[in-house]
Parts: sequence; structure tokens; C-alpha cells
Amino acid sequence: MTSTSIVRDLSLPGDTILINGEWSDAGVGERFDVGDPSTGEVIGQAVAGGGQAAKAAIAAAASAFPQWSATTAYERSDLLYRAHALMIERSESLARLMTLEQGKPIRASRTEVKYAADFLIWFAEEAKRMYGRTIPSARADQRFVVMHQPVGVVGAITPWNYPISMITRKVGPALAAGCTVVLKPAAQTPLCAVAVFDILQQAGAPAGVINLVTANQAGPIGDEFLANPDVRKLTFTGSTRVGKLLARGAADQMKRVSMELGGHAPFIVFDDATPEHAARGAAMVKLLNTGQACISPNRIYVHASIKDRFVEAMKNRISGMKVGNGFIDGVAVGPLIDEAARERMEQQVSDAVDKGAKVVTGGSRLVDDEHANGYFFAPTVLTDVTADMDIYRQETFGPLAPIVEFEDEVDVIRMANDTTYGLASYVYTNNLSRAWRVAEALKFGMVGINDINPTSAAAPFGGVKESGLGREGASEGLLEYLDLKLVGLSV
Ligand code: ADP
Repeated sequence: MTSTSIVRDLSLPGDTILINGEWSDAGVGERFDVGDPSTGEVIGQAVAGGGQAAKAAIAAAASAFPQWSATTAYERSDLLYRAHALMIERSESLARLMTLEQGKPIRASRTEVKYAADFLIWFAEEAKRMYGRTIPSARADQRFVVMHQPVGVVGAITPWNYPISMITRKVGPALAAGCTVVLKPAAQTPLCAVAVFDILQQAGAPAGVINLVTANQAGPIGDEFLANPDVRKLTFTGSTRVGKLLARGAADQMKRVSMELGGHAPFIVFDDATPEHAARGAAMVKLLNTGQACISPNRIYVHASIKDRFVEAMKNRISGMKVGNGFIDGVAVGPLIDEAARERMEQQVSDAVDKGAKVVTGGSRLVDDEHANGYFFAPTVLTDVTADMDIYRQETFGPLAPIVEFEDEVDVIRMANDTTYGLASYVYTNNLSRAWRVAEALKFGMVGINDINPTSAAAPFGGVKESGLGREGASEGLLEYLDLKLVGLSV
């Protein structure tokens, strides 16, 4: 199947800005190319929206807000149910588009589309559970009621690594709560965003309730989200650097923020775990999305007594994974998103090797015929990794698995917590008391115990420290889009 036929299959609008129910170029003449990271081929174009388009989209969202926020929870739920059904109906075409635009293997794209649809149905259900509270008063003639109200217009900014699910994880709860939305997707994956907004619109989202501004320059749109007083909430998934910039900017008007930022996940394998089983988990979660996930393990701590068995198993698993174009049968690892990402891998590997690390497998870019035009890098295992190496501190966002030896539980907890990040963490142990003890001691928003995927639309996803603020998914995910109001009444 050719790239044009994959894009044509979804009949996407050619003009990629959606404002007030109309697809157009919003008066912007300029477009930018969208590429396939596996082949370097141009697969389409998107409109290069800017501050003016964002302003018009915010105005549309602000004028749609009074009516949308006055709908019943059941009406909003119905919209999300319809969007869910449409997403499932189109799931194979969406998965193909994702593999084409983002590069992940087709099976992983199918899994992501399902995960994305899960947020629509989860929040279709949660919309009806926007419960308030009554509180007993110390005064006999007084009643207290706590109610929830939608925050207003939401500005949303999403990344390229999970180009569909990161959108539904924000837009689902925003719509369920009664908010209206303006979304700016990543420049690398605008077509996936267009496909999602096309679904929402065809599911019956009224004009102005959902607005999309594609762009290759994020700054002017971010600035408009921050400066425009109609935007009352900013929800962002991306790097800690940009998240801090936006959170600082949002402080000026005290806008609500949700921040899903970077991570530097520890993956701890105790001596009572089975090293081969733990290595299987570590390899799978490390290579998930070619390591381009904020929950990717970045420091793999293995007890000295089982290290050799673990490293051997990791090496066999990782070197056995086929790297290539995600449409090819049997490919388990796709390309990196761009050349800059590949250079970062080279930099981290050479810095680590200079400081004493050993490359067990991989270690360099793949440039043979099959990989010549894409941004491929060999899945890599490094041992003898130490705290002075860049890889030990900087988020890798790629297929490098650094292994660090440890001897003692207290030590490894201290090492695992010695990071400015606090998103995901993983522990392998067969000792229940230890599992509990370590889960309590880890300063992370999520802990997987013998489990590499502690994520679900039903479970709160998010971090502590510089990994962010707020939670996505679960009942907590809805609260992010609701203001709390106390009403006191004298009877
Ligand atoms: P990544 O390294 O994953 O690309 P970024 O934080 O750079 O992480 O990007 C995540 C999202 O943030 C993308 O949609 C990107 O366009 C957007 N972004 C980048 N810089 C800014 C900015 N200054 N203001 C608003 N959004 C930005």
C-alpha cells in the first residue's frame, strides 16, 4: 500500500486547520511537509498555522463554551460514545497512518489506536459521574454544597510519540467536563491529529467546541495560549524544558495547568527475581516505541549476583529484535523520529564509552540498504554505566538500555530516587514485602511491580517532581478540567 493511498483511505481534509466547524487554511498561505521517518519520503502537507489562527480558534472556542457547557452530561457522553465507535470503525486506517507518519510498527500502532479509543469510552462513562459533595455545617441553618464546573476554554499541546492517544487523553475529559478545546499537535504528526478531529467532528461535535491548529512553529501558538485571557487551562505533554516554559507563562494569569513531562525511569531487578523474566520485560518496555516514551527505563539496576545472566538474556532479546519499516512483517522496532534524535543516541553512547561503559550489543546507527533512508539506530545494551555519564541523567528517548550493578536495597532506592524526574519506575522481585517497601519508597508517580505496563485509561497517569503536574486518565483525569465551587446556603 502506498503512502498516498494510506492518506487517501481516510479522506482527510486537505486544509488542516479546524476553526468553528470549518476546515480551512485560516488565511495562512504557507504549508509544511510531513515525512515518513522510515523512508524520508514526504507523505503529505499541513497548514503552518500561527498566532492569528490560534487567536481565531480560541475566539471560536470561547463563543461555543456557554452552550456546550450547558449541555447535559448525557449529551456529552453520547458524543464521546459516537467518537469511540467511529475510531474503532476506522482503526486499521488510523493505525496505518500512524505507522506512516510516526514510524512505529503496525502492531504497536493498532495497540495505540485501541488505547486512544479507550479514553473516549472511559470519559463517555465518567462524564456521568461528575459528582459533587455535601458537607455538614457547624451552623444549624447552613448547608454546604461542593459542585464542579468546566474550567472554560482549554489550550492543548501534544507530542509526536503517541500521536493519537495523547490527543484523546486530553480532549476526551475536556469534552466530558463541558470544556471547549483548541489543540496544537506536534509538527511531526499533524495528520494523525487531523484524523482524530475529523472523527470528533463527524461524531457530532458542535462548531467551535473542538478546534485544531496545525503548525511547524510552536512558539507563537504557545504564546497566544498564554496571553489570551479566554484560555483558562493549559494541558501539555512534552519535554520538561518546554513544560517549565509554559508553566511559568501560565502563572501570569494563573491559568490551570496539567503537565506530562519527561521521565528517567529506574528499572530495578532484585536478586530474588528471575533474571531472564526481568530481561524480557526490560527489553520489551525499553524498545517500546523505539525507546521514545516518557515511561521508558533509563537506568536498569541489576543485583550483582544475577547481573551476568540478566545481561546475557537482555543481549539475546534485544539483538533478536528486527529493526525496520513498521509495515514490514516481523519488525519489532521502528526508526527514531528524526536525525537529531539519532545524533543524541550517538552522543550518549560515545560519552558513556569514553567514561568506561561497555557496548554489549548495538551502539551505532544502521545504514545498510534496508535502513539507508530512515532514522534507524541499533538497539543497544550498555553495561558498567556510572552516575557521571550523560545517559545516567539526561532523558534518552531512544533504544539505549544502560545497565548499572547494585548490591543493596537501601542503596538502589537512593540511586533510583537520585533524579530530578519522577514519572514511571519498575521493580522486579518475588518478595512481597520487598515489593511493597520499595513501591512506597520510590519517589515516582507510577510503579510497575513485575509489570512493564502500569497504564490504562482507567488508571491515573502522571509524575512528581520535574515530571509534571496533574494526572491523565481515571477519575482524576476529569477533575483536571473542572473548577471546584463551594456554595454555602442559609436555610
Ligand atoms: P519533544 O522533544 O517530544 O518534541 P517538545 O516539548 O519539544 O518535546 O514538544 C512537545 C510539544 O510541544 C510539541 O507539540 C511541540 O511543537 C510543542 N512545543 C515546543 N516548543 C513550544 C513552545 N515554545 N510553546 C508551545 N509549545 C511548544
